[in-house]
Amino acid sequence: MNIILFGPPAAGKGTQAKLLVERLNMVQLSTGDMLRAETRAGTELGQKVAQIMRDGGLVSDDIVIELIKINFARAEKVGGAIFDGFPRTVIQAEALDHLLAMRGAKIDKVIRLVVDETALMERIAKRFLEQGRNDDNPATYKVRLEAYNSQTQALLPYYKAQDKLFEIEGMGEVEAVYERLQSLLHVVH
Ligand code: ADP
Repeated sequence: MNIILFGPPAAGKGTQAKLLVERLNMVQLSTGDMLRAETRAGTELGQKVAQIMRDGGLVSDDIVIELIKINFARAEKVGGAIFDGFPRTVIQAEALDHLLAMRGAKIDKVIRLVVDETALMERIAKRFLEQGRNDDNPATYKVRLEAYNSQTQALLPYYKAQDKLFEIEGMGEVEAVYERLQSLLHVVH
């Protein structure tokens, strides 16, 4: 099974993906985590994307598609992938469909976490104070939200047309959201 967790920045996709990984035999493929690892390691790629990420913009499609190509093999060895923060543009979504089709695989479900933007702003302001991730500062977060609204939201009709789009309420306790996710995926544990 391959699924996409969908929603605005800070909707809780990463948190839910990690819970699924712990309980299912799947891997989390987060382009944000991959890009941050590159910047931390100071690779050429990391240096190239650092400024864009700091400003809250989107890294080029070619770069993130390549990262997914490299990392998808890990998911094939186990029970599938949980895509988190990818795809973010229609070009990325098309590239992902193509990559999976070439390997005889597909996206099974796209799960949208429905969240309240005002609450997210508060959540992220708190995370910024606690964790100090530099793109969580309120001004940059706004830019990230705008990138989501202008480019990533366009994926909703794309997946709706494929009949793969599902929605769950994303506000509330982490475990409560996870329960909803679990019943949607029919996961028993
Ligand atoms: P969040 O979902 O909280 O915004 P991520 O960790 O997914 O955080 O992404 C952090 C940053 O990494 C983004 O603001 C963007 O600059 C870059 N990034 C991550 N994934 C992608 C992607 N699929 N396409 C373009 N840029 C990306």
